[in-house]
Amino acid sequence: MKKFLVVFLFIFVLFFENSFGETNIEIDVNISENYSVYLLTWSITPKYGYYYPYGSEFKIKLPRNFEIINISDDDGEVRFFTENYTLHLFTSRNIHYPNIYRFYIKFKEINNPVHCDNEFYFRSYFSSKDFSILRINLPDFAKNIFVKDKEYGRVYNKSLTFYGDDYGYISLFFLRDNGDDEKILLNFKKFDLEIPKRYEKEIYPIAKKIDENAIPALEETFNKKINKTLIKFVPQPKENWICYFQNDSIYCGVGILLDYENIAENIIHEFTHYFISKTIGDGLPPWFEEGIAEKLGNEVSYLIGYEKDINFSIIEECKNELKHYFWKEWECEIFDCNSSYLNLSFVGKCEQRYGKENMRYIFSFYAVNKSIDNNFIKSVSSFFQENNIKIESDAKNKNSIVVLLLDLFQGKKEFFEEFKMIENETDFITYFKRFEEAKNKIEEIKNISDFDFYEKPKKILSYSLYYLFNGNLSEFEKNINISLELSKSIMEEANQIKNEIQKINSSLTCFHDFVSSLIEEAYRNYAYANFDESIKYLEKAELEKSIIDKRIKDFNKTFSEIKENFLGNIFSNDLKDIENYILECNLEKAEKKIYEIDKNIKILEICLFAVLVTFLILVFIKYY
Ligand SMILES: [Zn+2]
Repeated sequence: MKKFLVVFLFIFVLFFENSFGETNIEIDVNISENYSVYLLTWSITPKYGYYYPYGSEFKIKLPRNFEIINISDDDGEVRFFTENYTLHLFTSRNIHYPNIYRFYIKFKEINNPVHCDNEFYFRSYFSSKDFSILRINLPDFAKNIFVKDKEYGRVYNKSLTFYGDDYGYISLFFLRDNGDDEKILLNFKKFDLEIPKRYEKEIYPIAKKIDENAIPALEETFNKKINKTLIKFVPQPKENWICYFQNDSIYCGVGILLDYENIAENIIHEFTHYFISKTIGDGLPPWFEEGIAEKLGNEVSYLIGYEKDINFSIIEECKNELKHYFWKEWECEIFDCNSSYLNLSFVGKCEQRYGKENMRYIFSFYAVNKSIDNNFIKSVSSFFQENNIKIESDAKNKNSIVVLLLDLFQGKKEFFEEFKMIENETDFITYFKRFEEAKNKIEEIKNISDFDFYEKPKKILSYSLYYLFNGNLSEFEKNINISLELSKSIMEEANQIKNEIQKINSSLTCFHDFVSSLIEEAYRNYAYANFDESIKYLEKAELEKSIIDKRIKDFNKTFSEIKENFLGNIFSNDLKDIENYILECNLEKAEKKIYEIDKNIKILEICLFAVLVTFLILVFIKYY
């Protein structure tokens, strides 16, 4: 089988100004080796009592890169023109109930065929409020078909049908048996890029610019150097996404390789998410995070020469339609949250017309762009890195956290309020002030201490910030209190140890050499805030000191006894030596000598006594 693969990126939006009828759409997808052709059969039936006069206008939005092959009705060619990817069609006759009128629109996608793995990817944005049936006829070889998140192993007649009252994305994906596509790994300084080999020539220069100019610009904005990452182009089997990142790798759908203009923007957008994750964390509400990613995606890609058109006219047109749950719903899709926000949506006109995704991204981009600048991003990113904290994806009160950031780093709130992204948020600034008070208090305590003993309470304090920026107020308070109490008790213990050291120190003499080295060790540990060690050395020092003091006392006692003894004079030279030893602070030698003398005196005393006794015995014998 010949290897060929095709991707469709087909944005398809229908809209009507006034609807007096029922319309059905049927799309035949045909893939040839050179391009893919769509035959769109659009059936219109006026409602009972209404009619469409000759020349009624109908509009349909077609993919960006399309070329009309021909448009006709059952009678022949019809009048049409295209403007901004919108095709305007005019009926060639009056249509009365219950007649069915059909437009046959045949067009091809200019960029096709694009070869990519074995998948066919078809994405359609549709709103069926105004038409009742959308039917998509797939090629014969389609299998394993996914629509939204649902898998259809098999569809009847290779045809998918969607009925009215549905709106949103249809992501259609199907497989065909085919061989592998050859891949290539392009190496750059900041990332490796894995792409199908046939894109190498077009993608290489874009990727090189991203590597050399865009990444350094983002590093500057986030005040953060990043490690080398891997960007992989992979099939998009199920969900509706362009790029995402996971485990230090960025995955982009092969579909975006079609769109050379936006590929830089999309990759930079994803890199922005990557930077946010590495600095601020994964827990920003999507309206804020996507806004930042869009802002930097556009700014930085413009910097390296790629510009993107954005339809800002919807801001004025649609802002009044926005409700708080519109943004909450988005948050709920990404994070677990109060499910009451889901499935609550009332779909407004704008949402029908432009699609939910478009509304989300354009408004987020617009509001973020008007509210914060790159200095804001740099300050926030630096703040999170300095304090070693992150907003986790399970953070509570995400909107309040954003408001706090806006308050702290000079962002504006008006647009977020006007667009209902934030509404009645908890005021976290008062909590932040408590943090600052505690910080100052600990700083004060530190300043009146000999050394900085407050590493631990400071750590606990800065961890309280982690709790605050994760919306956990009770843990925040707990940590603040613990850090304050700990600082105070450290200060008290430090003072006690210091007093004890001074007390012992002042009572030391030259005989306490060893004791004073123990005291030094106690002080050294005190200076490093190893209070337990310090106390151990103090206790040892006290014990040693008491031993030495006892030796001195005993020595003094013996010394004065010898001096008072009538035999002491015999040893007067030795006693002089001892006095010199004492002057030299040599207690050991003095002790040795004194105890020798003491011993000798005792022997002498015994001898004298013996002589005396012998003498007395002799006298006794002689006279009696
Ligand atoms: Zn994004």
